[in-house]
Amino acid sequence: MNRFEQWATPGVRGLQPYQPGKPIDELQREYGVSDIVKLASNENPLGPSPRVREVLAGEFEELARYPDGNGFALKQALSARHGVDPAQITLGNGSSDPLEFVVRAFVQPGDEVLFSEHAFAMYPIVTRAASAQAVVAPARDWGHDLEAMRALIGERTRVIFIANPNNPTGTWLHEDELKAFVAAVPENVIVVVDEAYFDYARDPALGAAGYPDASLWLDEFPNLVVTRTFSKAFGLAGLRVGYALSQADIANLLNRIRPPFNVNSLALAAAGAALADQEHLRRAVHLNVEEMARVTDGMRELGLEYIPSVGNFVSIDVGGDAAPVYDALLHEGVIVRPLANYGMPRHLRVTLGLPAENERFLKALRKVLGK
Ligand SMILES: *Cc1c(COP(=O)(O)O)cnc(C)c1O
Repeated sequence: MNRFEQWATPGVRGLQPYQPGKPIDELQREYGVSDIVKLASNENPLGPSPRVREVLAGEFEELARYPDGNGFALKQALSARHGVDPAQITLGNGSSDPLEFVVRAFVQPGDEVLFSEHAFAMYPIVTRAASAQAVVAPARDWGHDLEAMRALIGERTRVIFIANPNNPTGTWLHEDELKAFVAAVPENVIVVVDEAYFDYARDPALGAAGYPDASLWLDEFPNLVVTRTFSKAFGLAGLRVGYALSQADIANLLNRIRPPFNVNSLALAAAGAALADQEHLRRAVHLNVEEMARVTDGMRELGLEYIPSVGNFVSIDVGGDAAPVYDALLHEGVIVRPLANYGMPRHLRVTLGLPAENERFLKALRKVLGK
């Protein structure tokens, strides 16, 4: 019994912490296996741009100093890239940071935050941490059902989270439907479109025609917030840097609660260098297209259903309870992500890795399922 729980806020009392993918070291310690492949956290298997290494070496001399609390240089680069004013940007320690700022800025205990079933796990966490009410719209074909969501907008709704594409399902919304939804949301309700996988989803080779760039709608919708991250296609998950784009009025509020120096100096420098290397980004996206074909072909060969995805991951129905399959894969040295806490007990989410890693996964899965 935690004696202090009685004095914690009601939201914190009921909170389950975020469950990250199992770290490689932990599997080594606990199971004694080596030569481990981790395909559990949607990281870029190529790592960051080589330019990142160069700028990080240069930053070493400055480590004793506080970072630029306003992130001037990175905001300039993002401003040029998105065609927005720097005053429209909120930098975050990962894009999870601005997701939380939105809730802290706009949601009081008892207010409602709306999101979809099977949506990204941070939404319920930041909602409950604020002692707010999570309103969960039922999914349709594993993806967001915008009609169901619209029907759940009420007097107390303050924030709506939409992940496009969604993690862990990989499902995505097309431009016309998403824009019509945003247009129908009352102005006093903040709509957050979380585009963590934007660069992967945007690739035309994935057949994601009509996948939208919600950042282009900021002038039209004063209540729209779009989040992006350097953790996925840019390969900087370990440094923690992301951002929100909005009109300046909302950014002004988010920046009031942003802790000073929430983005460290290495992250600021690395993000700028990563952004400048579009060639590396293209390589990452190209690899992802090829490996998506490899893994989904493998699923067809195994006779397993999967949810079509435009992210750098795919969720697979293993044909029964996925927990023992997850565990058996761990014994084979392959870490994927079980999805029971997303209401998907039959699915495993696998991140697309390097060709050899994906072959390891396919071989291990075949063995574990006795196929
Ligand atoms: C990974 C992810 C994020 C952001 O992660 P950060 O590392 O905090 O930027 C946000 N939304 C979704 C849907 C994600 O999968």
